[in-house]
Amino acid sequence: MDHFTYRDGVLHAENVPLTAIAEAVGTPVYIYSRATLERHAQVFREALSGLPRKHIAFAIKANPNLAVLKVLARQGFGADVVSGGEIARALAAGMKAEDIVFSGVGKTRAELQYGLDMGIGQFNLELEEEGAVLADLAHAAGKTASAVLRVNPNVDAGTHAKISTGKSENKFGVPISEAKAIFARLSGRPGLNLRGVALHIGSQLFDLGPLEAAYARIGELVRELRGEGHGIDRVDLGGGLGVPYERDKVPPSPADYGRMVERVTQGWDVTLMFEPGRVIVGNAGVLLTRVIWVKPGVTHPYVIVDAAMNDLARPAMYDAWHDFEAVRPSGEKIVAHIAGPVCETGDTFAMNRTIDVVRSGDLGIFRTAGAYGATMASTYNSRPLVPEVMVDGDRFAVVADRIEPASIIAAERVPDFLQD
Ligand SMILES: *Cc1c(COP(=O)(O)O)cnc(C)c1O
Repeated sequence: MDHFTYRDGVLHAENVPLTAIAEAVGTPVYIYSRATLERHAQVFREALSGLPRKHIAFAIKANPNLAVLKVLARQGFGADVVSGGEIARALAAGMKAEDIVFSGVGKTRAELQYGLDMGIGQFNLELEEEGAVLADLAHAAGKTASAVLRVNPNVDAGTHAKISTGKSENKFGVPISEAKAIFARLSGRPGLNLRGVALHIGSQLFDLGPLEAAYARIGELVRELRGEGHGIDRVDLGGGLGVPYERDKVPPSPADYGRMVERVTQGWDVTLMFEPGRVIVGNAGVLLTRVIWVKPGVTHPYVIVDAAMNDLARPAMYDAWHDFEAVRPSGEKIVAHIAGPVCETGDTFAMNRTIDVVRSGDLGIFRTAGAYGATMASTYNSRPLVPEVMVDGDRFAVVADRIEPASIIAAERVPDFLQD
């Protein structure tokens, strides 16, 4: 459920007509609904209420905007981060260091050190050598790093190849078959408290089967590790729950997921860590855009909008679907293609899509743009960096400025040898 609904024929975010935001801020612009964010956070938390010990760390790569993080911090969420920059953001949003999980396949020594200095609650190790380096850095600082080992359970999550992370050929985690040997070598090292295991098999999951199979394997691994004398008190179950990009394709609900987790983790006697991203923010955001032209096409017209692949990369990157709707729909429909102004054929949001009739100057939205949207934006084609707005009831605020090309040009230098 979200708070982007039509009232008197005009699409609103909570109580604010999107026409008002377009007028005040211009387009394209991302719009987040605070009430939707809060609702999603509460639904996810309630879905896990039957579990005795758990911690929810929002995967902030899905939407690292400070205002969004602030809302989630107030809901008691920590952060799952994958870089030093994301640590800085989580802390800036008021999240506690001990509530931060540091994932990421290529943490540098400097980032590990920064994480230690800040007192990060859990390091998710991606390889044995990383564990050894972390132990040494921590020991040298007179600290003990709390860590878990990310394993790759070799399951096919059944999602798009570019967001599948739990197959043996993917770059993430250590093969589950090697986990015991790595544990034996790393645990007991001064500076390291290796206390559990982690997994994350992919994103936009629509089938709980592969997740349940992966979790069951992890449960088996926990028993084996305990059998070898390791004290295991944490298991990180990752994120990955899908969201409905197309209204008639409904993913498993957080409640379905929670029931599955309760069933499969019965008797584990650990703190369960969760790293949801998309499911929290996906439907809490839309990308508002204005139609520049409706260009006649050979089969169907091209609706050329002022948002492009540099603002919302998912269609170009993952062949992703985003519903398009007019802000003031007339009720008429046409079949059209929707594309942005960037000089790439891939800058196409939809082909042969039945959409609301729109004309030059009309406003429209791409739905479900709150996750992996603004955060992947670039300035390709020297376009401005897209701004972000948060709505809260009757009010709204710009929560990220539009960065104009002039500011970006100002950060570039023409060297002496090119001055004439
Ligand atoms: C991306 C990622 C997540 C979040 O994935 P979603 O599909 O957005 O829920 C969680 N954990 C890790 C390690 C990730 O890389």
